This record gives sequence, C-alpha cells and structure tokens, in this order.
Amino acid sequence: MIISNQKKKDELLAALDGAERLFLVGCGACATACKSGGEEEVFQMQEWIESVDREVTGSVVIDEACHIMRAGRDLRHHRQAVEDADALLVLACGAGIQSISASSDKRVVGGLDSLFLGNIKRFGQFEEKCSLCGDCILNETAGICPVTNCAKGLLNGPCGGMEESKCEVDREIDCAWHLIYERLKKQKRPGVFARTVAPKNWDKRRKPGRFNIKK
Ligand code: SF4
Ligand code: SF4
Repeated sequence: MIISNQKKKDELLAALDGAERLFLVGCGACATACKSGGEEEVFQMQEWIESVDREVTGSVVIDEACHIMRAGRDLRHHRQAVEDADALLVLACGAGIQSISASSDKRVVGGLDSLFLGNIKRFGQFEEKCSLCGDCILNETAGICPVTNCAKGLLNGPCGGMEESKCEVDREIDCAWHLIYERLKKQKRPGVFARTVAPKNWDKRRKPGRFNIKK
C-alpha cells in the first residue's frame, strides 16, 4: 500500500491561501489504513478547517481515490457541494490527489505527503521493501531487495563500509548484502554471489509508467 502522512498544519494553511470554502475528499483504501485520510481523519480535518475560520461545503471518502472513474463519479454525486467550494482538499496519496485533479476543474489542495510503497509490519507500522524498480532481481537475492534495503541501492555488495554486518550509513541496521549472503548460505545456493550482476534495465522504470492488461 502507499504510505502517506498528513502535512503539517502550517504548511497546509499556506497551501489553502485564498480558499475560504472547502470540499474535503478522503480515501477509503491506503490513506484509511495509514490513518492519514479515512473517515475519522476527514472528520478531524473538518473540525480543524472550521477552527481556522473556513467553511466546509461537504465531504466524501472515495473507496479508492486513485481510481479515476470512481473519483469522478463520487464528485458528481456531490456536485453542488463541490461547486460551492473554492477548492477541494484531498487527503489521499499523490495518485489520489491527481485522480481528483483529473475529475474536476476546481483548485485541488493535497493534504498528504506520499512516502513509499509499504509492507504492513503490524497495525500502524509500515516498512519499505520494494522501490518498484520495474526489473525485479529478488529471485537472485534470496527474496531480499538490495535496491531498497541497501542504503546505496547497490546491485553488487556489500560496499567497503560494512562493519560487523552493520551498514555504514546507519550502524543500527543490518547491511542488506550481509542479510542476502546469510540467507543464500542457508539455502545452500550462491545466487548473485556466483556472478556479477549486470546493470539494471532502468528503461523499465521509465516515467510516467503505463500498463494495460492485454486480453
Ligand atoms: S528488485 Fe526492484 S521490483 Fe524487485 S523488490 Fe527490489 S525494487 Fe522492487
Ligand atoms: S553497508 Fe551494506 S547496506 Fe550499507 S550501504 Fe554498504 S552495502 Fe549497502
């Protein structure tokens, strides 16, 4: 899921400059799980908006704000409240904010910062495991991603800074390449250590990404 966090209130206030009447949009998927843009957070945002002498014309929590057609449909269901607003304040990830931008000509203000694609460790705790590089090498690295877990994203590690299995960038965390080595050893297979990993095909990560499921 996309991990997101609410912007600081002073930053948000600056972004809302000139917008006195707001329609609030939340997301029922990732932003709800992150407690940054679900029903509860939209309600709290409404209270805060009113406390800074602005008006809320209405609100909606879209099932998945990144779903462009659904976002458009839900905004149409609130046509008058959207029309009455100076801006739409969106509590969703960057993809969700842009779904709303694509669905309305109104000014859109993003209330969240999108941080990373995260795994859920336990409730409220998320960890980044994959950077979506588009050319996955997990099959060779015993299921541990060096692109994400190595502070330098090295494809051939470890670097010279590893000390007693700890990363030179942060001595509190294990070197990703040490973890890869140990796991491959347990599995009795050499993986990437049997060869030099070729440069990745970064072309697969070209932006903006497009993907169509072919029938
Ligand atoms: S190698 Fe690329 S696709 Fe695979 S887990 Fe790492 S970042 Fe994600
Ligand atoms: S010590 Fe290991 S994890 Fe840290 S930067 Fe070097 S190779 Fe990457």
